Amino acid sequence: MCAMVLNAALLPLELEQRNIPKPGPGELRLRVLACAVCRTDLHIVDGELPLPVLPIVPGHEIVGVVEETGSGGTDYRVGDLVGVPWLGHTCDCCAFCAEGRENLCDTPRFTGYHRDGGFASHVIAEAAFCLPLAMPEADAARIAPLLCAGLIGWRSLKAAGEGVRRLGIFGFGAAAHLVAQAAIAQGREVFAFTRPADLATQAFARSLGAVWAGGSNERPPEPLDAAIIFAPVGELVPAALRVVRKGGRVVCGGIHMSDIPAFPYRLLWEERSVVSVANLTRADAKEFLAFAQAHPLQVHTRTYPLAQANEALADLRAGRIEGAAVLVP
Ligand SMILES: [Zn+2]
Ligand SMILES: [Zn+2]
Repeated sequence: MCAMVLNAALLPLELEQRNIPKPGPGELRLRVLACAVCRTDLHIVDGELPLPVLPIVPGHEIVGVVEETGSGGTDYRVGDLVGVPWLGHTCDCCAFCAEGRENLCDTPRFTGYHRDGGFASHVIAEAAFCLPLAMPEADAARIAPLLCAGLIGWRSLKAAGEGVRRLGIFGFGAAAHLVAQAAIAQGREVFAFTRPADLATQAFARSLGAVWAGGSNERPPEPLDAAIIFAPVGELVPAALRVVRKGGRVVCGGIHMSDIPAFPYRLLWEERSVVSVANLTRADAKEFLAFAQAHPLQVHTRTYPLAQANEALADLRAGRIEGAAVLVP
């Protein structure tokens, strides 16, 4: 098998040939069909997150076919199409797992972070954390971005609140382009904020149904009920607070953000709130995949051969990708 391996933060990934691994009890070995590139992968490669395991194969938006099942019994069979998301394992016994908040598990293992992920031709995953995909195999590259961009976007949308009609989205990348479509399908209005003067991304947002698109330094025509921030830029927190109405909520959807600058209390006052979203639960995944079946989303992708993972990461870092980057072995 081959894999793109991170040996240390800030180094390019290196293509490595490895022996094909055997799945352990309760595990599956998948042949990877596609793996999308998430901003979290960039934070890992750039050393913005602590690196608990090195070397590591990044990638946690994996679509693959079951090649072999480990002992211990699983519902999956050889040939099944499955997805592997970021949440790769939870303890099932800490206070958070017991409350049904497994996304906050005290001792989780994340795919492509604690265990090798999908920037590879093959991957081992825990069957209990894989997601059955009732979709055609030929769509693998279009399904992959649903598994983190879509899922985290969905959890962020839920965190924004039920009654939200006018939703702002800051940072219009892979997650935003999916959550915008989901929000519009639910009857909400989307206001897209991009880097100032990024007219191409603003046009992209409008093409997906945003009622307004502008720079993050601009004011929308009316106050918003809530805003989601996907860009890892702390300055956007006060910027988003400035455009939400009284009682409005600002949701930070990323795993990492630059420092949030000091801002006047009046931006938070009047019961505005700032919350973050961390990881996902399997229930989120089930719910979102069912939604995506019922409301087909246009998934915009740029595909790269696996060996060009570094180019995909560079394009993502530079904001050159409309939609999601996807690696295809
Ligand atoms: Zn991700
Ligand atoms: Zn736990």
